[in-house]
Amino acid sequence: MTPSMWRGTTRSRMRAHGTKSRFSRKLASTPSTSSWASVWHWTVRSTGAYPESGQACSGFLIDWDGFRVVLDLGYAPLPRLLAHVPDADAHAVVITHEHPDHCIDLHGLFRIRRYGPATAGQVALYCPAGVLARLEGLEPDADLRSVFDVHDLPGSYQLGPFALSCRELPHIVPNVGVRLSTQTAAIAYTGDTGPDPLLAELGRNADLYIVDASDRPGESDQPVRNLLTAAEAGQWAAKAGAARLLLTHFWPGNDRQAAILAAQRAFGGEVFAAEQDLQISLATDHARSTQQRDR
Ligand SMILES: [Zn+2]
Repeated sequence: MTPSMWRGTTRSRMRAHGTKSRFSRKLASTPSTSSWASVWHWTVRSTGAYPESGQACSGFLIDWDGFRVVLDLGYAPLPRLLAHVPDADAHAVVITHEHPDHCIDLHGLFRIRRYGPATAGQVALYCPAGVLARLEGLEPDADLRSVFDVHDLPGSYQLGPFALSCRELPHIVPNVGVRLSTQTAAIAYTGDTGPDPLLAELGRNADLYIVDASDRPGESDQPVRNLLTAAEAGQWAAKAGAARLLLTHFWPGNDRQAAILAAQRAFGGEVFAAEQDLQISLATDHARSTQQRDR
């Protein structure tokens, strides 16, 4: 896919949703340049394990000039995605691991694409093998590859403007931390993970680091660690040198403000708590500074 095939869609979508960010104005004035200025993403409240009332588990949308990548689809982010993107028309879906709070809405996406109105065809799906196995258990009589163009993780791929790279991180099942980089910006996402030195590598100088901050009661006393606390999320984001930290995968009922404060004890950059329909624009100035840092 060439850049010209996706640039136009971002502008119309921004108008439809009333987005008034700096980069949308920039795009309106210079529609054929400026891909460096137009990354943004949207997320839902993002609990781990199971959803809270009226809320969803993990699910993120990254939009770079209209090239849309979905990161994880747990319990219930799909209806929110549909509210923003008709027919959930993403160019690629990346799933970190097979736990249902990270992948179960793939089943809904499969059915939309198989039985719903005609759409753009196959969706590129990047995931560990266990994700597909779970989905096959739900649809034993259907050919999943009629909808999904499947690529195994871990691996390295080019997704439109994004270079996708991975780090295998410790969890109960195989979990792949992912990093999406363009020439001027990088976003990294841990999925679910315990503490591991690779976390500093995965998020190295990222413009945005999305980190599991489960804070399950007694988490830091577990003999084998499969999740992080918010304080640890802040520590790893600081070690990585990330610019911004988005905390996610809260244990249901956890106090988000307390999680932010815990992360800020070690991390000096901006800290966000994932919540429904949160949008974060990676500002032009920061994209420039990141470009300089990476040289
Ligand atoms: Zn998990």
